[in-house]
Amino acid sequence: MSDVRVRFAPSPTGLLHIGNARIALINYIFSRQRNGDFILRIDDTDVQRSRKVYIQNIMDDLEWLGITFTEGPYFQSERIKIYRDYAYKLVEKGDAYLCFCSEEEIKKEKEEAKKKGFPYRYSGKCRHLSKEEIKKNLNEGLPYVIRFKTRGEKIEFNDGVFGKMNFNDRDFGDFVILRSNGLPTYNFSSAIDDALLNITHVIRGEDHLSNTPKQILILNSVARNIPEFLHLPTVLDEERKKLSKREECFSIRHLKENGILPQALCNFMVLLGWHCKSEIFTIDELIEKYNIYKVGRSGAVCDFKKLKWLNKRFMRTLSNERFIDSLSRYLNRDLNERERKLALCLRDETEDLKQLNELMEIIVKGDVFPAEKTEKNKDVVKKFMDFLLHFKGEKLKQELNNFLESNSFNKRDFYTLLRHILTGKEEGISILKLILCLGKEEIINRLNMWIET
Ligand code: GLU
Repeated sequence: MSDVRVRFAPSPTGLLHIGNARIALINYIFSRQRNGDFILRIDDTDVQRSRKVYIQNIMDDLEWLGITFTEGPYFQSERIKIYRDYAYKLVEKGDAYLCFCSEEEIKKEKEEAKKKGFPYRYSGKCRHLSKEEIKKNLNEGLPYVIRFKTRGEKIEFNDGVFGKMNFNDRDFGDFVILRSNGLPTYNFSSAIDDALLNITHVIRGEDHLSNTPKQILILNSVARNIPEFLHLPTVLDEERKKLSKREECFSIRHLKENGILPQALCNFMVLLGWHCKSEIFTIDELIEKYNIYKVGRSGAVCDFKKLKWLNKRFMRTLSNERFIDSLSRYLNRDLNERERKLALCLRDETEDLKQLNELMEIIVKGDVFPAEKTEKNKDVVKKFMDFLLHFKGEKLKQELNNFLESNSFNKRDFYTLLRHILTGKEEGISILKLILCLGKEEIINRLNMWIET
């Protein structure tokens, strides 16, 4: 076992999205930096909302991002007995107790607190039940929860990102650790697992800061070391609102389907909340340079323009091998020799794999598109075909310019027309590139087709 052990603990209640994939990635980088262990734990005790398809989605998307684990996955749903046994151990120890208050009673207490404008805290009514009363209630088959017994303690910890944190357990009062259906609450199963899996650093989202004092109380009660806590600031959308799990556009699957490269996405996610002089990093460079202790505390805005920009950069800079591998994963099939050549030739012309694929499909299909067939346009195209037929040299750009000038053709109009005929779009790919990719014979054939149809 390594000295450093971290974990990623998603709840499978929705698609993996930028917010939690970023947590996974930072845990991964942190463990790689320290030769540590990285554990995957699936927090699936919420039987109502957890779904198997989401577990599969999480695993697939993590694998696509290149985030790998050294241990797990552990499924909390398979560990329920462990949490139950611990809950009763705490009862025996006097750190927790059985609470028989009905849902109606609790609801009433909550309403009263609301009326008075106080935050809700359990009244502690069942704290002092005698052994006989408990026995009687159990014999009657009354449902109960198990509550942790708070003692008016101060809880302090030094968060690796947010600094010194102070809480008082009076702020939340005696909290439930085991529900009446026998399932643990998140705080309980999480703390017990962090203890049993010997987690040394808990890296997660800022929204869990307020859970941390409860988890520390539980960890103290089971006499385990307290890990270091590092809470990463929340990722916000462009309107500075918290990302919603239900918003499709933030899901990794959506970005993947839209042709974003995993390398660009990883780079992007690390830059949420962390700044460095340069902005483009491979995963190995991130492992070398990233410093979690330098992450800012304010919410990190998810700016898709930046993601697009990074993606464009990675489209151009990935090694050929990696690039082809990404495209073949995107298409979910192997590429033939011609497609490989085309893809490498056109990679600089597009912003993402989706665009690239669309362009390749057009080119491979060999269609021509109905651009306006005026006499002038036909004349330009014919002269250009003639130029291509006789072109033998290497300096295509220069010769093409000379050709356009000597015929007094407007450069822009010419390129727009050719692009339209050959790709159906008036903007985008460079015609020079297209000639290089397809070869002059094929271009001439296609232009002929356009003239004749
Ligand atoms: N299942 C929790 C979540 O997805 C885990 C939080 C934690 O890392 O403790 O938010």
